[in-house]
Amino acid sequence: MSFTVHGLPVSQGIAIGHAHLVSHALLEVNHYQISPRHIEAELERFDNAVASVEGELLGLKAAATAAQPHSEIGAFIDLQRMMLADPVLVEEARAKIQEHHYNAEWALVQQMESVAEQFRQIEDPYLRERQADVVQVVERLVKALLGGDPGHLPPKRKDGLGTVIVAHDLSPADTIGFRDHIAGFITDIGGPTSHTAIVARNLGIPAVVGLRHIRALLRANELIIVDGTRGIAIIDPDDSVIEEYLLRRSELELERSRLKRLRDTPAATLDGETIQLLANISGPQDMARLKETNADGVGLFRTEFLFIDRDTLPDEDEQYEIYRSVLKSAADKPVIARTFDLGADKTLGGRDGGEPNPALGLRAVRYSLAEPKIFLTQLRAMLRASVHGNLRIMVPMLVHADEIEQTLTLIAKAKEELRDEKIKFAENLPVGGMVEVPAAALALGMFVRRLDFLSIGTNDLIQYTLAVDRVNESVVRLYDPLHPAVLKLISGTIQAAQRAELPVSVCGEMAGNSAYTLLLLGMGLRSFSMHPARILEIKQQILRANFAELATKTQRILKLDEPARIREAVENLAG
Ligand code: PEP
Ligand code: MG
Repeated sequence: MSFTVHGLPVSQGIAIGHAHLVSHALLEVNHYQISPRHIEAELERFDNAVASVEGELLGLKAAATAAQPHSEIGAFIDLQRMMLADPVLVEEARAKIQEHHYNAEWALVQQMESVAEQFRQIEDPYLRERQADVVQVVERLVKALLGGDPGHLPPKRKDGLGTVIVAHDLSPADTIGFRDHIAGFITDIGGPTSHTAIVARNLGIPAVVGLRHIRALLRANELIIVDGTRGIAIIDPDDSVIEEYLLRRSELELERSRLKRLRDTPAATLDGETIQLLANISGPQDMARLKETNADGVGLFRTEFLFIDRDTLPDEDEQYEIYRSVLKSAADKPVIARTFDLGADKTLGGRDGGEPNPALGLRAVRYSLAEPKIFLTQLRAMLRASVHGNLRIMVPMLVHADEIEQTLTLIAKAKEELRDEKIKFAENLPVGGMVEVPAAALALGMFVRRLDFLSIGTNDLIQYTLAVDRVNESVVRLYDPLHPAVLKLISGTIQAAQRAELPVSVCGEMAGNSAYTLLLLGMGLRSFSMHPARILEIKQQILRANFAELATKTQRILKLDEPARIREAVENLAG
């Protein structure tokens, strides 16, 4: 019988194929005690498994980097290799075999629980999600111990349909291992910011995650349609549904090749408004993608990625080199570098914030101002790099006027120091701020007077307006970009910025989601910053839009406060 399940859409596209169920090795672990005379042999079995997984990961990394030299995939696999070498995981598990005589699988799972628990305690969502990497590495080790097929490659199908991987969870390495064999995947757990989701997007594999018990519900070989755009999986679809999706899939494929041709077409609406399309990046490795789509520059460089996942802080020279490299590859296009948006406890040398509500605590500019030395180092590095291109500095999560005052004072101090040291920098480096808290959107005047440009961070603006934790799966359905309160704040910010003749853009996920492009244009937005992979699709929307007409229609939408009517009216903007 056909049925549809709803999850989180993390990687767009349509896959049609037969279910390949991936076993959940951690559920198959036996618990038993080793007799003392077999301990040595058990330790050897354990060490062999570690060595074999290290070999597997290296092989996968080589294959992944050969296919996509500039993607984050290699780094994700390295992260799992680091975990494999981490004494807290491996040595402690060995100790459990030696001291408690646990069998190797049991020792590993026990130690995994304790390491994963430590990750779960971390307030920072990015680091908290790394518990998934621990679990995935242990799963791989357990499979090696059980003598399983590490890649669990599905057989090639003969009926022309693909294979859909159905798993409790998948590691980025699994995803890469499956790459050439699968049409799509669906999993019980996971969120849009999990590494696996990012890898799926990079590889262009349609995926839906967070389907809860799907792994247990399905039988091997059952036919599945994965709609990675809507976030649904249709199990055992009837013929008419298959027909419909086959058609949609070929339309999508055609669409993708058409989009590539838009690379050099200027982004302008039908009535001649030029729209700036910028890229969000997290480091120099993303600049190749920016070139592929010919973006107008970098609208958001998330510099905090230079600080996390490491034991020591990047010093001024290291940061300078990175900023310089980004500026050089951007040629003279603008690069907006955001000062680090760290949470209270993101791996900064033992600083354990332990705040009860980290999203409301010492994060972003608050954190930077609480650590003026680290902040000043970054500002100096940015200023030094500014002579190599068209740099702008942006400050995240502004709420109070004195936060920007203090930041400007620190920038002035950094300039003063550099002048004394006879080091060159761009004297008139523009400084902008992010509007990501309702307070800032509602009291914009004090920022407009002090800043050179604004960028609306809709990811946080929605989170703070609706009081919905953006990384908490259990409230993800309340996270609604079309909530009338959110729309009023975004449009109010755009209008206020324009009245003050201040450039304004949107750099949250809304900017890269084609469902909102016409609405944002209708609000008067002329600058969008997004993941480079989204740029051509958004450009296509712009090319078909009429700016002035959308403005009139959007004014009417902004007067609505009934969710269903807003949704309907936004969908109708295209018609
Ligand atoms: C945002 O909040 O919309 C944003 C772009 O910043 P980040 O997603 O890095 O918090
Ligand atoms: Mg933000």
